[in-house]
Amino acid sequence: MTNSKGFNIQEIRKQFPILNQKVNGRDLVYFDNAATSQKPQVVIDSATHYYSTINSNVHRGVHHLSQLATDAMEASRDKVQRHLNAAKREEIIFTKGTTDGINLIASGMGKGWIKAGDEIIISALEHHSNIVPWQMLCEQTGAILKVIPMLENGELDLDQYSALLNSKTKLVSINHISNALGTINPVHKIIEEAHKAQALVLLDGAQALPHMRVDVQELDVDFYVFSGHKIFGPTGIGILYGKEDLLDKLPPYQGGGEMIKSVSFEKTTYAGLPHKFEAGTPNIEACIGIGHALDFMNSIGVENIGNYEQELLNYASQKLSQFEKMRFIGTAKNKASLISFLLGDIHPYDAGVILDKLGIAVRTGHHCAQPIMDFYSIPGTIRASFAFYNTKEEIDQLVKGLKKVEMMLS
Ligand code: PLP
Repeated sequence: MTNSKGFNIQEIRKQFPILNQKVNGRDLVYFDNAATSQKPQVVIDSATHYYSTINSNVHRGVHHLSQLATDAMEASRDKVQRHLNAAKREEIIFTKGTTDGINLIASGMGKGWIKAGDEIIISALEHHSNIVPWQMLCEQTGAILKVIPMLENGELDLDQYSALLNSKTKLVSINHISNALGTINPVHKIIEEAHKAQALVLLDGAQALPHMRVDVQELDVDFYVFSGHKIFGPTGIGILYGKEDLLDKLPPYQGGGEMIKSVSFEKTTYAGLPHKFEAGTPNIEACIGIGHALDFMNSIGVENIGNYEQELLNYASQKLSQFEKMRFIGTAKNKASLISFLLGDIHPYDAGVILDKLGIAVRTGHHCAQPIMDFYSIPGTIRASFAFYNTKEEIDQLVKGLKKVEMMLS
């Protein structure tokens, strides 16, 4: 079946071996893509190929295998650079993931960039990993954390944002897309206003990279972070993009091998970018795998992916709205392919357990975004998040499953 956007969904699904299995005797329906995505065969093969042919430590060895491993890792960095349209390969830092990237920036800024009384702005829509590191930094430095409030529909209150910005604002750190509600934030406007106030901007792109093209130069963003495991790549790997002049000045995160130019007991000098921020032996297999994941996405076409997922989102929204007791949590105008909802007064956890018995994987709970749940005065939501390998037939299965949930629990 070739869908209206011109790619063959059955062929795509064949690339993901995990999808072809039964869970509790039913065909697996995997709708937990915002938590982590499944891996295509090329990414799985990349790990096997690495360990069975070129496994070796990178950057240090003169021997054949070390050079092959280094070349493969650095070629992957080039792919990431091209994918993000970063100006230089030195601006691409391998991290452990989004959380690690945010902590890297917070830690560096804590070493002299932020002082008591400075202000850092985040938003009401953040994942805990874009809240806690800034709280820790504020505790450490005496800086003040300000929060852009949200509106009932799950969008940010931009008037309040403008009012928060002032000459004390040093950083605005916001997600590109909310993992709990799917809201696509107006990041161009957010960046433009922050820059007018001389503040830097970090975007948490964990939920954006799987769905849309991101051009860091066009955005003019200062720092951008995301995770490999959410873009069909390996776990334990992520990317930090930073403008070269900023990364050059930012103090290193961790000390150790790889990140030094020279070490003596009197004085250590640091390596240049990107190695200054890559202490210790990296997750080499995953550094290579993330490049294969991007190749895979590009072979389908990021725009095709985004368009198809919007079809799924529209279809699911329409089908789910037929439930009399459906309450959508987060109804922003611009949304990624993710639906958070409640069904009457059924507890999300109970719904999740029954859906699991039917082979349907959804996420239930607060989605590491407790302030959002507090805003709506709810314990959590049921979240169905779609990837380009999902189908309308699977959404029909979810609808059937929810009817059963209602029947059993109402
Ligand atoms: N930010 C957002 C918006 C997320 O959705 C997530 C993960 O769900 C994270 C940050 C944390 O990502 P990781 O656990 O890969 O570091």
